[in-house]
Amino acid sequence: MILTGGTVVSSLDPVQIARHDVHVANGRVAADGGAERRDCSGCLVVPGNVCAHTHLYSALARGMPYDLAPPENFLQILQRIWWRLDRALDEESVRASALVGGMEALLSGTTTLVDHHASPNAIDGSLDVIEDALRSLGIRSVLCYETSDRDGPERAQAGLAENRRFAERARREQLLLTRGLIGAHASFTLSDETLAACADAARELEVGLHIHAAEDAVDEHDSVVLHGIGVAARLAHAGALDGRTLLAHGVHLDDHEIALVHAADASLAHNARSNMSNAVGRARLDALGPRVALGTDGIGSDMFEESRTAYFRLREDDRGIGPDWPLRRLAEGARFVGAAFGEQRLGKIEVGAPADLVVLDYATPAPLHASSFPGHWVFGLGSRSVRDVMVAGEWVVLDRRLTRMDHQELAANACVQADRLWKRLDDIGPHEFEPKGGRRWPSPLTIE
Ligand SMILES: [Zn+2]
Repeated sequence: MILTGGTVVSSLDPVQIARHDVHVANGRVAADGGAERRDCSGCLVVPGNVCAHTHLYSALARGMPYDLAPPENFLQILQRIWWRLDRALDEESVRASALVGGMEALLSGTTTLVDHHASPNAIDGSLDVIEDALRSLGIRSVLCYETSDRDGPERAQAGLAENRRFAERARREQLLLTRGLIGAHASFTLSDETLAACADAARELEVGLHIHAAEDAVDEHDSVVLHGIGVAARLAHAGALDGRTLLAHGVHLDDHEIALVHAADASLAHNARSNMSNAVGRARLDALGPRVALGTDGIGSDMFEESRTAYFRLREDDRGIGPDWPLRRLAEGARFVGAAFGEQRLGKIEVGAPADLVVLDYATPAPLHASSFPGHWVFGLGSRSVRDVMVAGEWVVLDRRLTRMDHQELAANACVQADRLWKRLDDIGPHEFEPKGGRRWPSPLTIE
């Protein structure tokens, strides 16, 4: 395959732009070769976007009816919404959510999803179901199961076993498009034993731990009260904080913990829209430094939209932030995924890199070059410009349509599954799990 006539953004950090044809052979960007041509004149060819933290099952929750008392805090959002929804998931709804979520990702120019999955009543094999659905669409993914003690010790063990089994399978079979991580919910729903077992599995399998960390004050408070140290310090003590670790959120990490995250060279997925929607506060992005990627936390997977919102939210507090900031965050997401795949060049359009790229049909109204591109990203570009999408050298979207599946059919099936899922929710009450450290913040121990 040769992509001809386009303006190629070969790197997001630093931005590098040139006009040249892109050759693709054997799934990778190549120096030459290819017979078939795809006319990309008038278009931008950019690296595929990475969503560094999502929950595909949320796709079926869009517009879900809610008739309990309105949640007053983050814990109640979990107890009354997400921990009811996840218990209602079965294999068919998990599959439908992965298909429709993966479909939306590709159509919006996202070529890799880092998913964090929970279905406490359908744990075994759930990651295979998601892998199969995403492979059939042709999207790249990094998967894990959300190990937690909130549904009892059997499910904690089953969750960890599912992570182990899948990460081993992905490695053994050298899956083209998928790798596994060890997933865990969050410090406040993990016993010392379960956290230690997760850390052991990650170390043994040489994969990262993917965990929510200090998303809300309740997590940090619980850790301080029960263990005398913050969440990141607890993870570090458990041997669960290293260069492969992916923390989600990190909103309430203190200075000492941020220093620990830096020292470990761990990555953090920032989810601006989710944080705003849950009113949990905002991460200290200035202090968190370079290892910050962007996720959606399940609010779709349009990284144009996510990166733009994250940028404007940040600008509201700091006019010094430039429009290259979201591009550096997206490049960081690609770096993290590249490390999971052992593909250093992932996220670049250069010879030898996996051919994950997006063709944007963008009639630029102002000169476009390396120094102006970040401004175009923040103020002009969007998923509406996504024309074609290639993952691992294969076209998975052409002329705004999936190449392997019918998007209307996928959406219609997802609606059927969502309807069944919502009906099952009627029989599931608020989750009764309460953090053992209590839910008050600031800690009564520090006030009294
Ligand atoms: Zn999340």
